[in-house]
Amino acid sequence: MSGCEAVLAGLEAELGWIRDTYIDLHRHPELSLEEHRTSKLVEGKLAAFGYNVTRIGGTGVVGILANGDGPTVLARADTDALPVAEATGLPYASTVDGVMHACGHDLHVAALLGAAKLMADGRRAWSGTYIALFQPGEEIGAGAQAMVDDGLVAKVPPPDVAFAQHVMPIPAGRIATTAGPVLSAADSLKITVYGKGAHGSMPHMSVDPVVLASSIVLRLQSIVSRETKPGDFAVVTVGALNAGATSNIIPDRATLLLNVRTYDAQVRASVLAAIERIVKGECYAAGSPQDPDFEYYDQFPLTSNDAAVTEKVRAAFSARFGADSVRHATPQTASEDFSRIPDAFGVPYTFWFLGGVDPETYRAAAERGTVAQDIAANHSPLFAPVMDPALSIGVQTHVVAALSYLSTEGATP
Ligand code: ZN
Ligand code: ZN
Repeated sequence: MSGCEAVLAGLEAELGWIRDTYIDLHRHPELSLEEHRTSKLVEGKLAAFGYNVTRIGGTGVVGILANGDGPTVLARADTDALPVAEATGLPYASTVDGVMHACGHDLHVAALLGAAKLMADGRRAWSGTYIALFQPGEEIGAGAQAMVDDGLVAKVPPPDVAFAQHVMPIPAGRIATTAGPVLSAADSLKITVYGKGAHGSMPHMSVDPVVLASSIVLRLQSIVSRETKPGDFAVVTVGALNAGATSNIIPDRATLLLNVRTYDAQVRASVLAAIERIVKGECYAAGSPQDPDFEYYDQFPLTSNDAAVTEKVRAAFSARFGADSVRHATPQTASEDFSRIPDAFGVPYTFWFLGGVDPETYRAAAERGTVAQDIAANHSPLFAPVMDPALSIGVQTHVVAALSYLSTEGATP
């Protein structure tokens, strides 16, 4: 029996409490950076499994299992829920008004706890150090940074490699992975441009910020169409444009809220520079009396999978689940803050997607061509991953990935 098989042999016996934990977490979702109950639950379980448990970054929890010589592996689950009113009608639906685990982080937590238990119980089959890290505040892009700021790097043994996974609206039983960019970098920014207010009947006495902002919105479209190299990826969206309140007053300012997505650090820098240049240029052209303000918020780093780590883990997944279950992932325009953790240690990582949709439901929708209509995606009030087999696979992926790095030589299964 290989080290991996020896560790996974205990899975069937553990699935009961893993399911119960998932249901419990789903019933009791907590918003970003308010994951108090969740953190307590995680701490209690990790301690019971024999982990050395530390709180880092408020509601962040890290469990460390030092198990002799060998590499150190870090696996991360995010723990927060969303301000969404659940509409799934599930028997274990959220009991908290307006808060829901609509992104599957409850599944990530339950799966990593399951993996942590198997790694502890199967410790005779491997050697090295296993770190299970439970990160708060992913949805607002703040939790990984909070853990880093609270001394994560000093408090935790440096890992050689880091892993994370995310349940997605693809068939359960399927895993999708790719080397290189897998999730985009995201930047939100609030821009305020200034004009000079006047009576609506006296435009010649104003510097009209409505016209100025309109011109900015149109000119921003040229960043992707004219300045970004064809084939490079960038999204520039103006999600909000606010100025004035009534028809006969020209206001004195306008605000724009922008969202930017990119897969490449250089493209990101060029796009952000172009936005600032265009806004300043338009303000100058309009005769704006004051420089514009740029305020960046909700920034997510690029998630770019290390090629060697991804290939090693993909091969281990294929060996365990069959090559047909392990697909090539197309990069997603969604974003994550996970990479701040391996980046803080300066170590490579890989991030994979886990199927969460009943395979039969998915197949039927795909045949009808109605996946977009019939399958609820992450953040939908109808988002409801199927527990089986998504949860069991989510436990196994963490164990298989970890044991592809941890030493199983000379272990005594
Ligand atoms: Zn989410
Ligand atoms: Zn998520």
